Amino acid sequence: MQLYNKLSAKERVELIEKAGKDRLTLSFYQYAKIANPQEFRDHLFVVWDQLDVLGRIYVAAEGINAQLSLPADRFNAFKSHLDTIDFLKGIRLNIAVEQDNMSFLKLKVKVRSKIVADGLNDETFDVTNKGVHVGANDFNALIEDENTVLVDMRNHYESEIGHFKNAITPDVDTFRESLDIIEDDLKDHKEDKNLVMYCTGGIRCEKASAYFKHKGFKNVYQLEGGIIEYTRQVKEQNIENKFIGKNFVFDERRAEKISDDVIAQCHQCGKPADVHTNCANDACHLLFIQCDDCKQEMNNCCSVTCKEIHALPYEEQKALRKGQGNSNDIFKKGRADHLPYKKDLRNIFEVLKPNKQ
Ligand SMILES: [Zn+2]
Ligand SMILES: [Zn+2]
Repeated sequence: MQLYNKLSAKERVELIEKAGKDRLTLSFYQYAKIANPQEFRDHLFVVWDQLDVLGRIYVAAEGINAQLSLPADRFNAFKSHLDTIDFLKGIRLNIAVEQDNMSFLKLKVKVRSKIVADGLNDETFDVTNKGVHVGANDFNALIEDENTVLVDMRNHYESEIGHFKNAITPDVDTFRESLDIIEDDLKDHKEDKNLVMYCTGGIRCEKASAYFKHKGFKNVYQLEGGIIEYTRQVKEQNIENKFIGKNFVFDERRAEKISDDVIAQCHQCGKPADVHTNCANDACHLLFIQCDDCKQEMNNCCSVTCKEIHALPYEEQKALRKGQGNSNDIFKKGRADHLPYKKDLRNIFEVLKPNKQ
């Protein structure tokens, strides 16, 4: 029985192209007690591999977090399989706003200690005592309220290219960091303000809201289903969209466009731009924003040094890398001192009293 992905990304691209079928990109998560994560993981892999599912799925004793794509004509079969699993029966699936057949090129189902690397010790607070979930309509009304502090629970490279109007966007690399910053900056407003949070698909707010309630915040709200579900409801119910720019996503698409605004700038020349790229130098791989002109001039690299290394024969590059660790952790590297244009996302207090019209 095959329990692991065997095809390379390149082989997979060819297969998807040859199949000529539309694929659907979607995500979902569920906190649930899973007695044997490894067994559950193997079961999912076997069934989903047969359904031609591709994606990144984390399974833990605390639940499942799945981001994936599948052939559109297998959607009902996939749903039926989810319905055979107690805690996934009838679960809401977040369907991606912008579809791309190549959003995922492998099926990876991994057992982890947690479904989101939240850095929290769950023993210290009640994770089931969550904030109030609000849909798009209520959320819109809530964030117009004078007494609301709206916080983006994502990392700096995510909020840089898109966020809700008037949102506080902490300048953090990790979820754990943002919790401390927010708690500290809002410590005098635990009772008089509405703390309203959002993230990509809702999963991070699930823990954050319980955490802040535990820390004494009285009025804690979270956007149900995150930006993805918000966008769907905005379209379906024809209500005002208050999200500007792009929604950063963790697959090959990198982002989906929610409004036409370009709110970020090229990290090299400062021109309006909001396309993330990885430095083409394999030893660097820095995730940064680059405009088309700089992309051409710099040969898709983040610095002159990287451009020079990238231009060397492959064997020489390999020799240079020898002995250095693999620095492929792209999503943690979204900033570097040599890039002159970087949005300053700090200043929580300055935005605490924004000019709301
Ligand atoms: Zn540029
Ligand atoms: Zn570089």
